[in-house]
Amino acid sequence: MNRVYLDYNATTPVDPQVLDAMLPYFSADFANASSIHSPGQRARAAVETAREQVAALIGAKPQEIVFTSGGTESDNHAIFGGVNALITRPINYKPSSAEARERRMLISHGKHIITTMIEHEAVLNSCQELEMLGVQVTYLAVDRDGRVDPESVFKAIQSGRANPDLPLEPVSPTTTLISVMHANNELGTVQPLEEIGRIARQHKIYSHADAVQSAGKIPIDVNTLNVDLLSLSGHKLYAPKGVGALYIRSGTRLKQFLYGGHHQRGARPGTENVAGIVGLGKAAEIARISLAADAARISALRDRLERGILERIPKTRVNAVSAPRTPNTTNIQFAGIRGEALVIALDLKGLACSAGAACSSGAVEPSHVLTAIGLSQEEAKSSLRFSLGRHTTESEIDFALEVIPAAVAQLRAIAPTYRKEAASHV
Ligand code: PLP
Repeated sequence: MNRVYLDYNATTPVDPQVLDAMLPYFSADFANASSIHSPGQRARAAVETAREQVAALIGAKPQEIVFTSGGTESDNHAIFGGVNALITRPINYKPSSAEARERRMLISHGKHIITTMIEHEAVLNSCQELEMLGVQVTYLAVDRDGRVDPESVFKAIQSGRANPDLPLEPVSPTTTLISVMHANNELGTVQPLEEIGRIARQHKIYSHADAVQSAGKIPIDVNTLNVDLLSLSGHKLYAPKGVGALYIRSGTRLKQFLYGGHHQRGARPGTENVAGIVGLGKAAEIARISLAADAARISALRDRLERGILERIPKTRVNAVSAPRTPNTTNIQFAGIRGEALVIALDLKGLACSAGAACSSGAVEPSHVLTAIGLSQEEAKSSLRFSLGRHTTESEIDFALEVIPAAVAQLRAIAPTYRKEAASHV
């Protein structure tokens, strides 16, 4: 069966050049990059080359790149580390458990962070955990296109307190971190990070961007974006799963997230995943070179897919269509249809894509991103994401434009609500 993959925002295949670059580090050059013998030094050199390649993709200095296990770890490190940046503790001080609990509360209290309602769970769930420790969190709303208004960031800093109903505290909270994603994974919406970063800088607040979905798709320059921390993930960038990076601007005070040896100057202990890191480096180099051409080609294909769907299928609408978007992503509502049913129907026809709803505790929950842009539960549940990539071809889009209308027609024919609604319009 013909198989077409339009789910590149979920993950990408490893680029053949990336795989070639990685292979020696599984066998001949397997040494530990911390060993001082010559095989170890060869592994170290490969890691440092990768650091330069990743830095070059985002306009950073190599020493500002820390390799991690992926986007989730990078986001956790930035958020927990950024909030607790100013904690210091006496060496060898071991508090009793009651003292430790009290200390944790004291550390967290009086702190405030700002994020958005449409972040990935790696950010949202980190923030929710911090709330349990007494940190106040403002979740900024977005408009119909999924964009944050920089003015709302400014206002959130001014007000300081996220929730005026919280019990009174002796000190007014200080905003320590602003975390706004660069591009959204479901809609592709790109946020006005330059302006948000400028506001953060004016107020001497650290700013973090989850750039997992923008890296390699649109240009990133950490200095233009005014960010202090930025998360990347290998597997969204044609490198393998389980490797990522965190950019930490020189001079940023960030508390350690993992404890262990002195790898990566103590910023991220753990024996380096040399092959994965080499893969990420190579993928970053390819992305830097091919980004402009890829973006032009892929956005033309995406626009053709969108136009084709809107022309061929009645009662369809593109979500967040007026926003600046990553070139590869489109999110479309198909009235009267359950997104997950359409994903399955398309899978049976050979097309892979993803739904705007997910199963949570046995129930189908609409995506928090789609409800945050004002879609009703029904509209959110009827939405599908198609995400294109470097290997998407014109003939794959033609195939998608054949199978999607057919699958939608089949499902609508058996959807009682749609049939009733359609009948009322004749
Ligand atoms: N942030 C965003 C925006 C994502 O889309 C993802 C993955 O889907 C992550 C973070 C998590 O990255 P990883 O899968 O590398 O942990």
